[in-house]
Amino acid sequence: MTLDLSSYARENGIKYFMISYTDLFGGQRAKLVPAEAIADMQKDGAGFAGFATWLDLTPAHPDLFAVPDAASVIRLPWKKDVAWVAADCVMEEQPVEQAPRNVLKKLVAQAAEAGLRVKTGVEAEFFLISTDGSRISDEYDTAEKPCYDQQAVMRRYDVIAEICDYMLELGWKPYQNDHEDANGQFEMNWEFDDALKTADKHSFFKFMVKSVAEKHGLRATFMPKPFEGLTGNGCHCHISVWDIDGGTNAFADKSAEFGLSSQGRTFLGGIMKHASALAAITNPTVNSYKRINAPRTVSGATWAPNSVTWTGNNRTHMVRVPGPGRFELRLPDGAANPYLLQAIIIAAGLDGLRSKADPGPHRNIDMYHEGHTITDAPKLPLNLLDALREFDKDEGLKTAMGSEFSAAYLKLKQREWNAYASHFTRWERETTLDI
Ligand code: ADP
Ligand code: MG
Ligand code: MG
Ligand code: MG
Ligand code: MG
Repeated sequence: MTLDLSSYARENGIKYFMISYTDLFGGQRAKLVPAEAIADMQKDGAGFAGFATWLDLTPAHPDLFAVPDAASVIRLPWKKDVAWVAADCVMEEQPVEQAPRNVLKKLVAQAAEAGLRVKTGVEAEFFLISTDGSRISDEYDTAEKPCYDQQAVMRRYDVIAEICDYMLELGWKPYQNDHEDANGQFEMNWEFDDALKTADKHSFFKFMVKSVAEKHGLRATFMPKPFEGLTGNGCHCHISVWDIDGGTNAFADKSAEFGLSSQGRTFLGGIMKHASALAAITNPTVNSYKRINAPRTVSGATWAPNSVTWTGNNRTHMVRVPGPGRFELRLPDGAANPYLLQAIIIAAGLDGLRSKADPGPHRNIDMYHEGHTITDAPKLPLNLLDALREFDKDEGLKTAMGSEFSAAYLKLKQREWNAYASHFTRWERETTLDI
């Protein structure tokens, strides 16, 4: 039964709802709707001018309606009279095909048709920085290897514990928080869930981290590589596929290599096959390509992949199988759109299952030191343009994500690349002035 948001407001003392949808660039767009008006909005949605956000609509398009999915409602733990609710984009009674949450819902439904339920967990790393964005916020946080730094994590206890307390309150089952590999960088982990739920939580997590950081006079960034020479913000995704009632992990097989079943292997085969193309979604910004394929960082390793390779419990590869019954895709970064990230994984994985794709040999080497010895594994795209071209060439993946989505995404991202390419840089002057 659908939760009635009006009653929810009465029972929980909610004064305002944020009806929130996510556009193609991962921007969260919301209207603040008083509880008195939520009954009609729950039925018809809140109206938006779609052109004003990144959905590839024109000013002439009719109104876009964001219809709240009541099951996703979350009372803001730091502002208890407000509730956030994820919404689905509708225009003239039809779903807007390119809207990211709709793309994901379609893929979740396709998995369900095949009797499968995809469960994922994300590790959304972030930096706590100065409000002007120019430097990390903690001047004492300067160690060469700052990962797990006890002193540094405790200097940010007020921020980290506040966020973790909220996750506990929301029932997300958070289980650890740490200082990560770059100065100023943190990671907070909560338990995996169905792909759509993980995407909603991932969106809300970003909103929550930024809000709490601001409350403490700081700023949080998920930018893939905010500081040259420091490890970037990854957003690793752990993946398993279950039977439809969620009782049996179809990826688990104790007798198989790494405990990964043959279904797990073929799903992984799909990820390997489409890796260079799906990077256009998992690594969606110009800056993303300064995280992957990066030179060694101050800490000694980037922890980001450079080639399409996989193996067991070894963090130098694109895919790692950390334990039985799941694998970890280490490619995605902090700029990945929470909905498109899950959608592209399901799209590639389902294709792998259908075509019984072979993930190829695993290579248990240190890719950072011995990667050059592997000549038969594709390198990941070197920049956003290469990734977009790979995606554009991958007709199967484009169709699986929806042709309206793929056309809209490629158009807007090509525009972004063009804006970047026409930007004059200091580097150009320095290297070309005296030519
Ligand atoms: P690491 O840093 O070693 O990669 P973390 O503990 O930071 O791992 O994150 C692991 C993530 O994987 C968590 O979100 C966790 O809930 C999730 N996870 C664990 N088991 C599974 C599984 N079977 N399927 C999907 N996700 C899983
Ligand atoms: Mg108006
Ligand atoms: Mg982790
Ligand atoms: Mg990490
Ligand atoms: Mg990880």
